[in-house]
Amino acid sequence: MHRLPPYRLRRSARAKYLRLLIRPEGIEVVAPDGLPESTVLAFVRQHSGWAQAKLAELQARLAKLRQGQAERFPAEGGSVPLEGRETPLFIEETGGSRIRVSLEDRGLRLILPRACGAERDRYVRDALFGWMKRRLPGRVAECVQRHGPQHGLYPRQLRIKSMRTRWGSCGPANDVNLNWLLGLAPPSVLEYVVVHELCHIRHRNHSRDFWELVSAHLPDWRQERQWLKTHGGGLIQRFDPVFP
Ligand SMILES: [Zn+2]
Repeated sequence: MHRLPPYRLRRSARAKYLRLLIRPEGIEVVAPDGLPESTVLAFVRQHSGWAQAKLAELQARLAKLRQGQAERFPAEGGSVPLEGRETPLFIEETGGSRIRVSLEDRGLRLILPRACGAERDRYVRDALFGWMKRRLPGRVAECVQRHGPQHGLYPRQLRIKSMRTRWGSCGPANDVNLNWLLGLAPPSVLEYVVVHELCHIRHRNHSRDFWELVSAHLPDWRQERQWLKTHGGGLIQRFDPVFP
């Protein structure tokens, strides 16, 4: 005979019938006071297949939910993919209103005001964004120095912004905007987006000529574009979510 699943029996003076409840911690059977144990056992045996399937379903759903929460934001003990490499994140909360981000040997250290409370995720995101706005321009300038002279492609201005739907843009006056999350992508991906926008200074479209120019700078651009298609959405969800 097949074994009964573990369950918790709760006797109730108010219960009129036997009831089976599926809870995150397991199966619970509610039985009226005085109902014989054998009746309870027969009931559990009869419904054990259904109960176990429901319990597995519930636990899988909860696990997914928890994982989703963990992936959505880097809580303490999490990590940040700096330049594409997962880097441990240490968050410290102190009195006062100080917000600081520093890159240390052990990982990325964030100091946040203890008072941030329920707004903590937003503070973490804003701190990372602010830090990346200071850190990224130097790396972008290096890409421009490397690629600009080849075809005389120079942006008028470079800005690091939060853009939830695009990785870069090039305005009519050749102002180039780049998504701050590119600081969390491999360097070759950042380089590709910079080159892409620089090439728009020459071609304001995605014509064959445009892609030929991109290829002249980066023969492997397809690989980098694919990286963004595969991982870009995840980066946005994880590090630049829309806060309520
Ligand atoms: Zn484009």
